[in-house]
Amino acid sequence: MRRATEAVVETVADGDAPYTGRSPEALAEQFDAPVVPEGGVGLDAAIDEVAETVLAHSVATSNPRCSAHLQCPPMVPGLAAEAMLTAANQSLDSFDQAPAATVLEQRVVDALCGLFDLPSGADGVFTSGGTQSNFQGLLLARDRYCHRAFGRDVQAEGLPPEADSLRVVCSETAHFTVKQAAHHLGLGEDAVVTVPTDDGHQMDVAALDRTLADLTDRGRRPFALVGTAGTTDFGAVDPLDELVDRAAEHDLWFHVDAAYGGALALTDDHADRLSGIELADSVAVDFHKLFYQPISCGAFLLRDGENFRSMARNAAYLNPTAHDEGGVPNLVAKSVQTTRRFDALKPYVAFRAVGRERFGTLVESTLELADDAAALLNDAEDFELLSDPTLNTVVFRYRPREGIGDETVSRLNAALRRRLLDDGRAVVARTTVDGVTSLKVTLLNPTATLDDVAAMLDVVRDCGRDALAELEVTA
Ligand SMILES: *Cc1c(COP(=O)(O)O)cnc(C)c1O
Repeated sequence: MRRATEAVVETVADGDAPYTGRSPEALAEQFDAPVVPEGGVGLDAAIDEVAETVLAHSVATSNPRCSAHLQCPPMVPGLAAEAMLTAANQSLDSFDQAPAATVLEQRVVDALCGLFDLPSGADGVFTSGGTQSNFQGLLLARDRYCHRAFGRDVQAEGLPPEADSLRVVCSETAHFTVKQAAHHLGLGEDAVVTVPTDDGHQMDVAALDRTLADLTDRGRRPFALVGTAGTTDFGAVDPLDELVDRAAEHDLWFHVDAAYGGALALTDDHADRLSGIELADSVAVDFHKLFYQPISCGAFLLRDGENFRSMARNAAYLNPTAHDEGGVPNLVAKSVQTTRRFDALKPYVAFRAVGRERFGTLVESTLELADDAAALLNDAEDFELLSDPTLNTVVFRYRPREGIGDETVSRLNAALRRRLLDDGRAVVARTTVDGVTSLKVTLLNPTATLDDVAAMLDVVRDCGRDALAELEVTA
């Protein structure tokens, strides 16, 4: 363990560039040794190999110039907790496999329900992340609706004949996992109806009203409304308060995908941007993003814990029946997983160690950095800022001079980003906005400074100039 720790410190904490720029082919060549050798090489040698071939060529998530995705620099309290929880190897499906962990997860879940002002009777469970949390929200929503509308027990009987008319409503910038969940739930992606967004990339409520009226007119059955608190590209927070009203009016399950923006609840200055979340039927929140915990770590929260019943099942060896072992909590009944990690320990140790106030300040500092970064881009002649940041993503394009058409800008930014991957001095994401290839930084790192951002933009500029020269030669 000590050797592994040293290897991490030497490789990940070392080095200037967040990535070595090694190509997929060159990486593949490193791994020509047999994965399952007849005789082992010994642990020390295996660790040294990993240090050289894997750690050295990983993206250095703690490097301030590594800022592509919602992939956070993990905070040390979370890493310490990760080491403890994997060593203890508790499994949260049944109490006899995780006695203290079961009770503590429940306690952390209760605290999270409190953080989002959910009422008493709320409950939740830790998940692998937003994908699973969104799936679980829509699963419970579907089952409640089918029970109420058709007296159908989906768990036992499967989908009702009317399933074709079920609809989920979310904004056009909601996370793709909403559609994925609809597929997995047997409804199909076409069951997801997307509502246009306004200039601030938030769900347009007037358009939502039209969508709901139209669905009703056509005999469709919307059963869930998904609001996003922090969209992946622009960090937009839907007007949750107004969505709550619409959900109540149309008797929809209101699920809030706060995978990204949930951390605002820790801050003094921005918590009110989540207003309305306290009235959600379910909430998805990720700790492996803006809560700085190692992957994976998410939670699914449920306004009325009784709704977990529709997915509970009994396995003789895990949770015999409530009255056999009255009072013993077996969390398997609340999860889509069976064997399950004790991920709750990570936010627990982090919250205990750092405290809400300081945690909130860390989050706030990254929001300020995003604003400063946007100002820097706005002032630059060769960059085009696409939107003022809402959280800590900043979306922009390299557009070295006026008069370059969108199609060329698209090709230029795509070529630029390929060069960035080979360069390694800055880790920046690409995305598409209005059909045009764009660049994105996600400034999650509270130790990053505006100088780091400026240094990243210089690298982007270097790669942009080279990409432009190449385009002009080949044009
Ligand atoms: C990251 C994210 C997800 C997916 O969550 P995972 O943790 O990657 O499973 C869903 N919704 C939003 C808004 C996200 O940012």
